[in-house]
Amino acid sequence: MLHTNQDTSEQPTIIIGSGLAGLSCAFELADQGKKVIVLEAAPYIGGRTANWNEHGMGVESGFHKFIGYYVALPELLERAGIVLDEIVHWETTTNIRHPEAEGTFGLDLLKAPLKTLAGALGNNDLLSPLDKASLAPFFAAGFKDYLANPEELDEIPIKEYAKKHGVTDKALERLIEPLSSGIFFLPIEQYSTYAFFGLFAPAIPRPHLIRIGAFKGGMTQVMTEPLSRAIEERGGQVMTGKPVAHLLVENGAVTGVQLEDGTQMQAEQVVVAANIRRSQLLVGEHFSDQEWCQNFLALEMMPYVTAQFEATEKLAGADHTNFGPGTQLGSFSEQSRTTFQRPTGRASIILVDPDKLIDLPDEEVWELTRNSLHAVDLPNVDTMTQYRIIRGKENFYRLSAGNEKHRPQQITPVPGLFLAGDYTKQPLLATMEGAVISGQRAARGILKGHK
Ligand SMILES: Cc1cc2nc3c(=O)[nH]c(=O)nc-3n(C[C@H](O)[C@H](O)[C@H](O)COP(=O)(O)OP(=O)(O)OC[C@H]3O[C@@H](n4cnc5c(N)ncnc54)[C@H](O)[C@@H]3O)c2cc1C
Repeated sequence: MLHTNQDTSEQPTIIIGSGLAGLSCAFELADQGKKVIVLEAAPYIGGRTANWNEHGMGVESGFHKFIGYYVALPELLERAGIVLDEIVHWETTTNIRHPEAEGTFGLDLLKAPLKTLAGALGNNDLLSPLDKASLAPFFAAGFKDYLANPEELDEIPIKEYAKKHGVTDKALERLIEPLSSGIFFLPIEQYSTYAFFGLFAPAIPRPHLIRIGAFKGGMTQVMTEPLSRAIEERGGQVMTGKPVAHLLVENGAVTGVQLEDGTQMQAEQVVVAANIRRSQLLVGEHFSDQEWCQNFLALEMMPYVTAQFEATEKLAGADHTNFGPGTQLGSFSEQSRTTFQRPTGRASIILVDPDKLIDLPDEEVWELTRNSLHAVDLPNVDTMTQYRIIRGKENFYRLSAGNEKHRPQQITPVPGLFLAGDYTKQPLLATMEGAVISGQRAARGILKGHK
């Protein structure tokens, strides 16, 4: 049911950024009859959940997996009239491809319980029974510490924590590395133990929901554009090509924004839902003398680097998630049957240790990618017809040890100023679900009348 009780007051809420955080915030406000305007700098909607054309090749920020235990994102999509099963293909297996061994794991306890259990108990080439046994005390201690001492857990890198709890070197490299670096890029020497357990904790009460899905189409087309249309149906506006240069501040309160072209727009509230670095710049310009802001400015960033390519042959026999421990491959997937449908090949790879790769020329990054795919026995990479290296320096907060305490709340002490974005404080780390939760929290703050 659409609300028609549009707010008739003069000034809208302005939301800077059309990623999932900005869109989810806008949806909640528009749904409650608030006047909202989303200002997006890029020519397309979606931020890190976008696809676009990069010099003649269709690309995305990087391949995205929908985790089965997400709640806020599926509910948002449903309310916006987007049918989840029409946009997501649920995978039944995942592969860990180490240069010396390979393992296949079932992913769906509900629909394929035997395959799932066989995966966990089998795969002895990849991990011996001794390696697997070394993981039990580690997981038990980790989930306990995650609930009891999250701040302390965030001070320890996952490698150190795993060693302390007796995880064997093989299990560390072949299982802990894919489940950490394979997901959030950083090497295990840096990766926060809090982030490691935080990703799996939501599944403990609902293990049957650990399944992962690939998008059936580009994320802008199947998710963020329809979401933006749902906002507009509720009276909101979503505008692209509108980079915000400054916040307008009067008497210590945020009263609007100034675009890069000099246009000023007044607002009742401003929600900064830009990526972390832009948000730090916009907010830091005015409030860096305030303690909460100094803490936020201390939140570090990390880059990301992905390789995406088209080929005359498919890289793998199925479009499902692979991890490549012991190589430059974090996680990767053939996508020609799902996200970028075509009769020939199309694959996407998220590379590990982006700090080392971010400034390398495309040719060198591609060479490392190609060599790594050969190392895990995927020679069809040699049928590549075109590739793109898609990278970003300033989009992610750094999931390394010691950063969690710097993540800011969505409701700030500054009148008229709210933050949204996966980097803000919420339990779902740097994920689509986390971004949606952050946007909803900012909207709730506005609707409750926080100044
Ligand atoms: C390679 C890669 C793989 C990922 N894999 C997964 C995955 O498998 N599963 C998962 O759940 N999540 C994944 N993520 C994370 C997920 O994409 C993010 O957590 C989420 O999309 C963040 O949304 P956001 O709204 O917080 O930020 P963003 O999507 O970054 O949105 C910020 C927006 O603000 C805009 N902006 C910036 N500055 C300005 C300005 N001055 N004026 C106006 N607009 C501005 C930007 O253009 C952008 O559109 C992945 C991300 C990447 C990059």
